[in-house]
Amino acid sequence: MPGEAPTASTLAGRLRPLSGLEEELVHADREGNAVALCNELLARCLARPGRDPGRARAEVDALLVSERDLALVALRQRSLGSELAMELTCPACGADHDLVIDLTRLGAPPPAPREIEVVHGDHRVRVRLPTARDQAVAAAAGALDAGRATLLAATLLELDGRPGPFTVADAAAIDPELREAIDAAVEDALPDVDLALVTTCSTCDAGIEAPVYLAEVILAELRERGRQLLREVHLLARTYHWSERQILSLSVARRRAYLTLIEADHDAALVLAGAGDA
Ligand SMILES: [Zn+2]
Repeated sequence: MPGEAPTASTLAGRLRPLSGLEEELVHADREGNAVALCNELLARCLARPGRDPGRARAEVDALLVSERDLALVALRQRSLGSELAMELTCPACGADHDLVIDLTRLGAPPPAPREIEVVHGDHRVRVRLPTARDQAVAAAAGALDAGRATLLAATLLELDGRPGPFTVADAAAIDPELREAIDAAVEDALPDVDLALVTTCSTCDAGIEAPVYLAEVILAELRERGRQLLREVHLLARTYHWSERQILSLSVARRRAYLTLIEADHDAALVLAGAGDA
């Protein structure tokens, strides 16, 4: 609707399926900031393949991290369907199991507040829930304490009557117990979009309970797909004489459909050759 602020669900509805250009981006970014990469993937899929996402980046940046993760799930569904294959290792016997998660089973989480108040002992704190941008900036600052202090400095609105902004040093100087309490309150307020997988090991019968971090699983799958990209481009270019750019701009599903046709032709040619030999 004109004039209305975009919500997470309308943003997810505007995503186009992934193309090879985004798969190439994921493949090239193996050692980078995984959070920033997820944000960039979403922003690019709000624009046409190969186009600069422009202000779509700011839209993605403003999503709560839970909303960003759900948008990523929506992108995965739109691009590759709702069945997500993953591997799970039994903690009791070490056996690996292949599982398929049905992403349509994920319900919409309740709407989250944008900020919360935390009261702990004599302290009273107001803090924003972290956005996709906050999380990317914190990830760039490093793991553990540096990242946590960066995140807290960005999201802290008011500390015992003192309004922000706060520096990373301010955040790092906060009593560790209070920081724990703030972290826990933020964690509680953010809708949980990850799955708790409960199953039984078919090798040793042990019960397995494992959290599934969907954004991580989806990114790992894209990295794996990126390995085949060069070969797929090679096959399509050889068959259709399209440019690399044209091939990479195809949606993932469209590229797969052409590859299936090429394989079918190849199989038919083998059958004909076999008949000729007989
Ligand atoms: Zn087992």
